[in-house]
Amino acid sequence: MTLIFSGHPFAYEAERLFRSFFPPVKITLSHSAEDACGDFCLTERIRDGESVTLSVELRAGEHCGRRETVVPADTPDKEQERELCILLYGVLSEYTGVMPPWGILTGIRPVKLLADIDERTAAERLLVAPEKTRLAHRINEIQRPLIGSIPERSFSLYVSIPFCPTRCSYCSFVSHSVDKAAGLVGDYLDRLCEEIGAAAEAARAAGLRLDTIYFGGGTPTTLSAEQLKRLFGALERFDLSGVREFTVEAGRPDTITREKLEAIKAAGARRISVNPQTMNDSVLEAIGRRHTAAQTERAYELAREVGFDSINMDLIAGLPTDDVEGFRRSLDRVCELAPENITVHSLSLKRAARLFRERESELSGAFEMLSYAHERLAACGYEPYYLYRQKNTADNCENTGYAKRGTESLYNVFIMEEVQTIIAVGAGASTKLVDVPKKRIERISNLKYPYEYLDRFNEALAAKSRIIGFFDK
Ligand code: SF4
Repeated sequence: MTLIFSGHPFAYEAERLFRSFFPPVKITLSHSAEDACGDFCLTERIRDGESVTLSVELRAGEHCGRRETVVPADTPDKEQERELCILLYGVLSEYTGVMPPWGILTGIRPVKLLADIDERTAAERLLVAPEKTRLAHRINEIQRPLIGSIPERSFSLYVSIPFCPTRCSYCSFVSHSVDKAAGLVGDYLDRLCEEIGAAAEAARAAGLRLDTIYFGGGTPTTLSAEQLKRLFGALERFDLSGVREFTVEAGRPDTITREKLEAIKAAGARRISVNPQTMNDSVLEAIGRRHTAAQTERAYELAREVGFDSINMDLIAGLPTDDVEGFRRSLDRVCELAPENITVHSLSLKRAARLFRERESELSGAFEMLSYAHERLAACGYEPYYLYRQKNTADNCENTGYAKRGTESLYNVFIMEEVQTIIAVGAGASTKLVDVPKKRIERISNLKYPYEYLDRFNEALAAKSRIIGFFDK
């Protein structure tokens, strides 16, 4: 299939919308209407004096669809882009029989975008299904006081541990299996502690107060209890007196031990994640997660015994070999365990994942799974409190964090809504400097892979001076 952009500058949005209908399909991009042969989708703008004609034509096998609209020549580009996307949505819905509920919205933060748009306008102008607008409004309501509670000149710290015991087949993060990267871990921790120290210096010089801490990855509990303690020790370079939330993503149940949990708790972390992804053993095996549902339950109970009173559990809708019934059983079981937070992800078919190369068939049922999750979780007292979309997700769905009221993770809200500075350390970590009053955001990305991070560590250190520069402006 060739996707053609002719006579307009809306290629970015048009391509994203097109891909949201066909996540795993290979497409060729072109900027010439002359490439309109074979299977193609031609998006076109033709100016003609006082007016502009926008059109979309789709040819796929025997199928042929076309829509067009005429707007005045002085219509702003943003508005023309929206009109063209509406045509594209119509042509693709007609061909596929699918009507993505987020309409023509393709960004990762629909909640922010829909904050001030009523249901009717969202449906008419953006083709967003009313239940999605209501969901976005509810999330906004829950987030408002959390965002309002952010102390002035504060920041969150993200610490990246890009190692896992094995690599899951659907994973597209930079995480390395610890078997392959065993030789790097010691050096990595040395450098990471050094970078934590540099981040503490920079934050102090910029007059920033530490508000929340998040250890993610990867799987931080791939590290031994001793290694974790060493890392936690490095945090003492910060003033920890104002920390309101400290999360460690324990993640894979097969890495969780009492000793590690005790080390995490002793460091002051109150919130952890124990991530089943599914409670179905055969699906776990199919995705290469070498642990069982029984191990998840044991890890969860252990975390309770050690005294964690804020536990998150992640589930994924649309996993290979899973079906709607299987997903329901997983969700029901997790609800019975009653963690404070449950995050429901849609499987993202990113190109890097092995799975993407192996299975190009459409994964179905994710939308039904998410609808079930929404209803069941509401019945169990959970409310959605943050939401984001990823590209290429199964059935174009979203990832939603649910929480029992009062247990929402501050860090998750702050990072998704871009309302607080996040200083991130470690390989693949991305610092986001946010100046809310002046609406300025600047990103600083560390090198992606652990070996690059080690080889060019000075770059990560040098970048810390940009934190001070940003807040000096
Ligand atoms: S545990 Fe998470 S980060 Fe690690 S390989 Fe699996 S999906 Fe990727």
